[in-house]
Amino acid sequence: VTVSDLVKESFDRIEATDEKIGAFLTLNEDAFEQAKRMDELAKTSDNPLFGLPIGVKDNIVTKGTRTTCASKFLENFVPAHDATVVERLHDAGAVTIGKLNMDEFAMGSSNENSAFKVVRNPWDPTRVPGGSSGGSAATVAAGQVLFSLGSDTGGSIRQPAAYCGVVGMKPTYGLVSRYGLVAFASSLDQIGPLTRTVEDNAYLLNAIAGHCDMDSTSATVDLPDYTKSLHGDIKGMKLALPKEFMAEGVSDGVRKQIEEAVETLKSLGATVETVSLPTVKYALPTYYLLASSEASSNLARFDGIRYGRRAEADALEEVFTYSREQGFGEEVKRRIMLGTYALSSGYYDAFYKKSQQVRTLMKQDFANVFADYDAIIGPTAPTVAFKLGDQLEDPLTMYANDIMTIPVNLAGIPAISVPAGLSEGLPVGLQIIGNHFSEPTLYRVAHAFE
Ligand code: GLN
Repeated sequence: VTVSDLVKESFDRIEATDEKIGAFLTLNEDAFEQAKRMDELAKTSDNPLFGLPIGVKDNIVTKGTRTTCASKFLENFVPAHDATVVERLHDAGAVTIGKLNMDEFAMGSSNENSAFKVVRNPWDPTRVPGGSSGGSAATVAAGQVLFSLGSDTGGSIRQPAAYCGVVGMKPTYGLVSRYGLVAFASSLDQIGPLTRTVEDNAYLLNAIAGHCDMDSTSATVDLPDYTKSLHGDIKGMKLALPKEFMAEGVSDGVRKQIEEAVETLKSLGATVETVSLPTVKYALPTYYLLASSEASSNLARFDGIRYGRRAEADALEEVFTYSREQGFGEEVKRRIMLGTYALSSGYYDAFYKKSQQVRTLMKQDFANVFADYDAIIGPTAPTVAFKLGDQLEDPLTMYANDIMTIPVNLAGIPAISVPAGLSEGLPVGLQIIGNHFSEPTLYRVAHAFE
């Protein structure tokens, strides 16, 4: 097959299915040209990603291709450069097919906060695909592309991967460059791969991981070949199941699939023991205060002058106000207000500072478990994909979907979601969490389980 064939196949599939799914916001018009050029040059490469179509979440900037963050504010924003991850994919010979739908500025758990259109879950179009990387998960589940990139601030790669029955990895904070990722909460954001299989996932992480001078939080570590870790067995491995992850709120169907997963892992030679992560009960308020605080600061750059939308107004102050009033959706405004409040003098100590202290305790909780165990397992989300519209009016219920994914971002550690069977005909995700830079262990467990 030629690269052109692969690209055409992907576009055909998108044309046939995306009216229903809604995964793509923008298609890359140049993809065919690029493919043709690659074929003409008869360029060959032993890079396993060579010639493969890939979708990119729309908060990752792409030179010359509109990058909207699914926001009216950036509806016509065309970046002047590529994100580091996009550059690396191009170096590997992958072809960007287009930009994927998401919750506006990555704020949400259902993709319903996109300013442009909802994404429907390919397993059941009346249900959400999860969020905020809903497009990134749905496109892989619908077979439009085999690989996509998402971003994960509090679960946005893993939760949609779970809801759509695909594999999603949130790497260790600092492993993948954030240069060119539109910042939501900079101390939590991380780009990662969504794929059909664990093996594909490892190939994609190989391509995007590694130090980048343009990201001051980028780690300097030796990079393993992640595909090498796929083949070891998990005999003797010690796994921990936190009781807080199987508590109230977890649906019977999800619980059953996770219990079965535990049996499977045991039959593969691992031991599984129950542990406690006592600070999980503070995860939601801690995260929503910290993430919103950082967001309120990061989104200050959208002033109507520098990027995207500029409202008509008489005075400069009004340009700021009206651009933001018209450009941002409800959830984004809610977070900016919450974050501004938590950071304001008089409240800072009670909210922002307190959350930072809880964050430190949470890191300690994980460190305690990793002193004795190789990895932590549990559900990725408490339920299967819910119906479109069901939680939209109730932000607190919506936020509760993230209870098992958020602690991982607060601690800066990696986690992967792998499909673990069906409940009521819908996919359940098994989450495997590891210590900093233990991605090889996570791939090993996930691949053995898969
Ligand atoms: N659902 C969470 C939120 O709304 C996580 C989002 C994310 O990881 N980008 O903030």
